[in-house]
Amino acid sequence: MRAISLAFHDVADGPPQTVSAAVYAIDRETFEAHLCAIEKERRFVSAMRQRAQWDMDRPIFLTFDDGRFGNYESAAPALEQHRWHGHFFITTDWIGNPGYMNSGQIQELHNRGHVIGSHSSSHPERMSALSEDKLLREWRDSCAALSSIIGQPIRVASVAGGYYSRKVAKAAAQAGVEVLFTSEPTCEASLVDGCLVLGRYSIQRHTAPDVCGRIAAGQIVERWRQTSLWKAKKILKLLAGDTYITLRRRFFSRRLMGQRAIR
Ligand SMILES: [Zn+2]
Repeated sequence: MRAISLAFHDVADGPPQTVSAAVYAIDRETFEAHLCAIEKERRFVSAMRQRAQWDMDRPIFLTFDDGRFGNYESAAPALEQHRWHGHFFITTDWIGNPGYMNSGQIQELHNRGHVIGSHSSSHPERMSALSEDKLLREWRDSCAALSSIIGQPIRVASVAGGYYSRKVAKAAAQAGVEVLFTSEPTCEASLVDGCLVLGRYSIQRHTAPDVCGRIAAGQIVERWRQTSLWKAKKILKLLAGDTYITLRRRFFSRRLMGQRAIR
């Protein structure tokens, strides 16, 4: 079983206001260029609401992490122009905060056919470092909060912060999650306690639309580039632990200041 999943975050115009936006936020025009590049390469973009077998050769899934307002305002309407649906993964403690979707907007996306899933309750920096109890609480509480908004059980989720381990998937399965997206750049799927675990290729601010299109088309060189970078980062994360997070934050804060200075 194989699938190509792309991980987007925010779609918003203007200078980035946060470290995360400096890395991940894409302006509307570029996002639309990404979608056109995907459409050029692939005819079908799929939506998965629960664990399923699929006949298509390598379906493509478009996912959006964190629950930013730009996903409601810009990403969803752009997807609908292509008659596609996205997977919107919400960090439930942030619902209604400035810059994030509120409950009504989440419900509206669900009513318009998009898939709503969990992105944890509190977005821990290292999910894989949490105890089993805490992990279970992150998944259960967030799924319950979202379920009460859309009136349906939540079956799909994505791992916050990219820190995945088998323990993270086991807790998700226990909370009723049937499909879990990680940040590991791979198209291979696996099963953990009945939960389907799918990797994703990350689309960042600097990713060119044609690169996005080539990843969607399954071209091996672009996918291999992300995979080799990811493997190097994984070793660094293991060796450096919390120091990795501190260094990363410092590096991207400098980049954010640089981007603001240019504008
Ligand atoms: Zn996130």
